[in-house]
Amino acid sequence: MARKQAAAPEQAPPGLPGVPPALLAKFERLGLRQSFDVVLHLPLRYEDETVVHPIATAPHGITTQVEGVVVDAEVKFRPRRQLVVRVRDESAEMVVRLLNFYPNQQKQCAPGTRVRLTGEIRAGFFGAEMVHPRIRVVGADTPLPDRLTPVYPTTAGLSQYALRRAVHASLAREDLSDTLPAPVLHRLGLPELATAIRLLHDPPPDVACEALEARTHPAWQRIKLDELIAQQVSMRLHRRRRDTTHAPALRNEGSLRDRLLDGLPFRLTGAQIRACDEILADLARPTPMQRLLQGDVGSGKTIVAALATATAVESGYQVAVMAPTEILAEQHHAKFRQWLAPLGLEVVWLSGSLGARERRAALEAVETGRAAVAVGTHALFQQHVNFRQLGLAVIDEQHRFGVHQRLALRMKGASGEEVPHQLMMSATPIPRTLAMSFYADLDVSVIDELPPGRSPIVTKLVSEARRAEVLQRVADTCVAGGQAYWVCPLIEESEQLQLATAIETHATISAALPDLRVGLVHGRLPPAEKATVMASFKAGEIDLLVATTVIEVGVDVPNATLMVIEHAERMGLAQLHQLRGRVGRGSAESACILLYQQPLSENARARLRIVYEHTDGFVIAQEDLKLRGPGELLGARQSGVPMLRFADLAEDVALLEAAREIADVLLRDHPALARRHAQRWLGGREELLRV
Ligand code: ADP
Ligand code: MG
Repeated sequence: MARKQAAAPEQAPPGLPGVPPALLAKFERLGLRQSFDVVLHLPLRYEDETVVHPIATAPHGITTQVEGVVVDAEVKFRPRRQLVVRVRDESAEMVVRLLNFYPNQQKQCAPGTRVRLTGEIRAGFFGAEMVHPRIRVVGADTPLPDRLTPVYPTTAGLSQYALRRAVHASLAREDLSDTLPAPVLHRLGLPELATAIRLLHDPPPDVACEALEARTHPAWQRIKLDELIAQQVSMRLHRRRRDTTHAPALRNEGSLRDRLLDGLPFRLTGAQIRACDEILADLARPTPMQRLLQGDVGSGKTIVAALATATAVESGYQVAVMAPTEILAEQHHAKFRQWLAPLGLEVVWLSGSLGARERRAALEAVETGRAAVAVGTHALFQQHVNFRQLGLAVIDEQHRFGVHQRLALRMKGASGEEVPHQLMMSATPIPRTLAMSFYADLDVSVIDELPPGRSPIVTKLVSEARRAEVLQRVADTCVAGGQAYWVCPLIEESEQLQLATAIETHATISAALPDLRVGLVHGRLPPAEKATVMASFKAGEIDLLVATTVIEVGVDVPNATLMVIEHAERMGLAQLHQLRGRVGRGSAESACILLYQQPLSENARARLRIVYEHTDGFVIAQEDLKLRGPGELLGARQSGVPMLRFADLAEDVALLEAAREIADVLLRDHPALARRHAQRWLGGREELLRV
């Protein structure tokens, strides 16, 4: 088997075979950086240029090919300037129109020239015509191609010709020898990689063209399978590498933990105890934990994280607790301090908005090790924050951090050879296929039970036209001693506009309900003010909190029983579910009113119905995956996780299952092949997949 191509890509000369340097930037725009990327730049569809039809009987309305001799070619103005060429074969005559043309195209079409034309024929005013066909000058005996012509995805200024040349050059250069053992392929009835790739770029005319274009052809299956296997292998290799790195074994009697538990006004649920046990078992091992703690909003993840924290601290290590927004981080800070300060632990606050003096003091507490716990935003993993001995990092809503931030945190190795354990938390349930692919190297604990004594939340869909009734309901709730949230619409195009809307809503509601104490919180408020408003709401000094979506995650005010969400039709399903989870945290019955603007599109109606009908975040996330694709759930848009190019997690479940099995076999029986497979597909981008 040829091995010479297995060399690392960084040794390859810059550039791509068959690509003039001037075009490299355009290839880059298509994501084509190395030769194998070009090999995998697969056609969208194909054109059949293997047959020439007589002009008289050629089908209309689909791409077809005819051949004839130019009768004449003239520039006309009817009404726009255009080149009109008449072409004749034995059967009939036809008009060709070029609206934009180069002088040399005009020269090319001199009378008497034999041309082959590919395009759509339609009936024009002067008989059959083709607008902007592909034109090739041929001789009387120029052979027809015997393969279908691929049409590649492209970008402005990059011709199909340039792409085809590059593909051919890359195909000639790349070693396409197989990385999957023959028996495996045989069992699945799939072709070898080289066969599959060559077929896709250069199919014979009798191929099942629909299966190719629908990507169900065995050649396509093979490509998708390889992509999924590469992902699985890479995840497992990462997992193994992680298992050879060291983390402090955090094992102790748990007396801090017991004291924390003793001070709580509630008892853990069975699901919380289970999650705790799983986490403690991981922490006790000398390899870094990477565990995701999943649980619906309000399921009580924070106390579980605090128990893990107490364990790490008892073993003499520090803990970093991180959240993606100031408000959420501030809540964690309050909770952790409330729980841990009575045990004699120092909990410091670190965020980007600290004043210089407070910041220095916090950094000093972290560096000397005096602070057992540091809570904050991404400010926690900036370079000048040096923990004395970091043993555990807790990351809330981890999917909201960018890939690079997560990487930076992972690199923040505590002391010498040891890296910290990681506990990630998420209220967004991961659908099964995502769990099997992108999250394959994480261990997962699930809290699938809400604390007792919660009353269910009643969800209502109300048209904006009934706003006055809704305001009355807010007033009634607050007069009866409850509290309410009013969430202003999401305005994606403009943060300015969103802010303006929030301020205006606050003003009009304050005027409409003069007896209520109405507060306002939005993303542009200085952090100190934000904290003050949240604290007043929590203390019951504010009845109604008008807010932008900043309250989406983590706010915990059990006395709040009513949530109104304006323009609910503009929000994502997971987001609505998160917002709704802000109420129903106490024992009083709670309601969530989704205000929508008429008229509702079909799609918006279907989406709102899902939130209305389901209270299970898992079902909602599954629907969200269907409607919006995995990028949204993974937070990958911002973070740049390389998404799957070919496989589709909604459709290719069977392939994904096969890929998992094959990845295991490869790694066990053919480790060199497994590595070559991953290298070939990911070529240096694995690092991003692993975060
Ligand atoms: P989330 O999982 O959404 O982060 P939290 O950790 O904020 O949920 O918990 C929601 C609320 O439930 C908090 O007020 C928390 O103190 C409370 N809580 C957590 N566990 C229990 C329990 N076992 N019994 C009663 N209340 C609990
Ligand atoms: Mg939480």
